[in-house]
Amino acid sequence: MEQKKQITVTSPLLPPLEEFIPYLQQIWDSKWITNNGHWHQQLEKALCEYLGVEYISVFTNGTLPLITALQALRIQGEVITTPYSFVATTHSIWWNDIRPVFADIDPRTGNLDPDRIEAAITPRTSAIMPVHVYGNPCDTERIQAIADKYGLKVIYDAAHAFGVRSNGESILKAGDISTLSFHATKTYNTIEGGALICHDAETKQRIDYLKNFGFADEVTIIGPGINAKMDEVRAAYGVLNLKHVDAAIEARRSVVRRYREALREVEGITFFDDMPGVRHNYSYFPIFVDAEKYGIARDELYARMKSRNVLGRRYFYPLISTLETYKGLPSAAPENLPVATRMAEQVICLPLHHALTEEDVKRTIEIIQDKR
Ligand SMILES: *Cc1c(COP(=O)(O)O)cnc(C)c1O
Repeated sequence: MEQKKQITVTSPLLPPLEEFIPYLQQIWDSKWITNNGHWHQQLEKALCEYLGVEYISVFTNGTLPLITALQALRIQGEVITTPYSFVATTHSIWWNDIRPVFADIDPRTGNLDPDRIEAAITPRTSAIMPVHVYGNPCDTERIQAIADKYGLKVIYDAAHAFGVRSNGESILKAGDISTLSFHATKTYNTIEGGALICHDAETKQRIDYLKNFGFADEVTIIGPGINAKMDEVRAAYGVLNLKHVDAAIEARRSVVRRYREALREVEGITFFDDMPGVRHNYSYFPIFVDAEKYGIARDELYARMKSRNVLGRRYFYPLISTLETYKGLPSAAPENLPVATRMAEQVICLPLHHALTEEDVKRTIEIIQDKR
């Protein structure tokens, strides 16, 4: 049988090479290739404008800003977080020798359920690390109210939420710190990259020191920093790619519209709709397969897609709380996390990127519609 073209779950948004050459030429001419150069500064400025935030610090990936945020806020003890995320969320807590405490999620958004956060607070709790999963905004108001009531810091892992706005405001303004990932697989990429958003100049200064070994000047080292700087080549790539990201989001949006139209009538398949007042970035399109109603189990559908060269991803499965490192924690017990456990067993993220064709989307939909 003829093997059809492979449809991947994601595809990196690459700026046209001919547009990138002049940027490279400029960097080669200047011979300044890293250490807070022209493009690093330009990228921070451009991102502040695009995202509608005041203070941003660019990083070499999306995991180091999480680790650095916990350091900068001197978080210790316990941090309440979601098991329904990419592993980097919990790993960043673990790497700081802090105990992650898992709380269950809200089935309507996939995000931490504020009631469950409050129930998980102990005298050792010092922060909350929620994730705007799939770019769906968390209930930031209720989370802030809980944080204020108990004197906790809030660090949002906003890796999926590039450019997401709620009622016209960037959701990156919530909490004490938010972090972004610019990894190749994300809606906006700098190949590898990330950023940290904070809300005052003093914190930004501290973050900038910490991401550069703690150097304040040639002879002053303010503390045990790390090397998490972004180089000039990727910063320039980032400035250029920012000009293309809106078109990419628009293309993603029309794919999502087609998926929703076609799949709404399929019994046993559910998905998220746009949230009221939210400008989404369409970073993922998860569907949830109810094996009983749909008649086919999630893993069977996943395998059928794969056999026809359509690659979905079971994001987020397995649940972080089931991994060897974390499964012994009391909060990792499946009875504590029924909603997250069910979602992880039902989810498949469908192919979603700017370069999908009508034909690609049609082929993906037909596999899901065809239950024979
Ligand atoms: C991608 C991702 C990260 C890590 O980002 P990297 O840039 O790959 O280090 C962190 N958290 C979440 C939720 C992610 O999806």
